[in-house]
Amino acid sequence: MFDVAIIGGGPAGLTAASYLQRFHRRCVVFDAGQSRARWIPESNNCPGFPGGVSGEELLRRLHAQAAAVSVPVEPVRVDRIARAEEGFVIAAGDRDWSARAVLLATGLRDRLPGPWAEEAIACGALRLCPICDAFEASDLAIGVFGPARDIGSHARFLRTFSSRVFALPSDGGDGGEAGEAARAAGIEWLGAGELRFDGRRCHWHRADDVVPLETVYCYLGSDATLPLDGLDVERTRSGEVVVDRHQQTCVPGLYAIGDVVGGLNQISVAVGHAAIAATHVHGQLPDTPRAAPEAVR
Ligand SMILES: Cc1cc2nc3c(=O)[nH]c(=O)nc-3n(C[C@H](O)[C@H](O)[C@H](O)COP(=O)(O)OP(=O)(O)OC[C@H]3O[C@@H](n4cnc5c(N)ncnc54)[C@H](O)[C@@H]3O)c2cc1C
Repeated sequence: MFDVAIIGGGPAGLTAASYLQRFHRRCVVFDAGQSRARWIPESNNCPGFPGGVSGEELLRRLHAQAAAVSVPVEPVRVDRIARAEEGFVIAAGDRDWSARAVLLATGLRDRLPGPWAEEAIACGALRLCPICDAFEASDLAIGVFGPARDIGSHARFLRTFSSRVFALPSDGGDGGEAGEAARAAGIEWLGAGELRFDGRRCHWHRADDVVPLETVYCYLGSDATLPLDGLDVERTRSGEVVVDRHQQTCVPGLYAIGDVVGGLNQISVAVGHAAIAATHVHGQLPDTPRAAPEAVR
């Protein structure tokens, strides 16, 4: 029986695992290997990296830090977490494990504008997180793509960073009042069109012209699938898990950390959640007094 099973090996899950193992708890990470962080070409707001860091490099370092305290990582997608007589049972395929507590660190899945999105993200033509990298997009021709009713306020946020912001309504709408406010703030509201990527940059194709964009922020939303079986956690209307101030869900012993929780989807927030949850769950588990060094030897 593990003390804690951590579902997800992104920044949140790996940080929690390092904390727990350093509390001398027996934990395990299950990871399907699809962290959002792997898409980050270069993060410049991640604390401690003045020259920036790629998502792949950050994940490599977090794995190395967890490995240094012997955290086991199972490279599997968990398909069921259920209550057991004591704690929880975690199942993947025909294997299962037991744990006294579970940390959900399963993140989100972004909805993307096309099969070309991953390549466009890698070269900076498409972006998903202005809080992360709008500074790097300062003074570029910035497109803001998504449903008309949503993009007005996002376009205004981006107006801080560039005088050339273009609203690209995926449904061709005018955005109502938010659209009106965006236009008043100097945002150019382009009519119905199609977003395409030419291998280098995105363009907005309209009936009679093509508008080139140096970068585009995409606002199509995201999905979060939880492998819970009979565990009725509270979720927001947009699917994020609701937690208390210790990151615990309404199911005792089941915690949620990182992007799967509502709020700001950032690495610094994910690792903050991890520290809070790991420290709280450690305090809730039965004490494990350490034997004298000669007995340990
Ligand atoms: C293009 C891009 C750029 C970004 N830039 C920045 C930036 O510069 N700065 C910043 O702070 N943030 C940035 N972010 C956001 C950052 O990547 C996320 O906030 C962070 O990765 C969240 O960490 P997490 O551990 O909660 O989730 P994730 O990193 O998404 O990790 C979740 C893990 O859980 C696994 N998983 C899911 N379900 C299961 C299951 N059933 N069984 C086993 N494993 C499962 C997934 O495969 C994945 O490995 C960016 C995001 C994107 C997409």
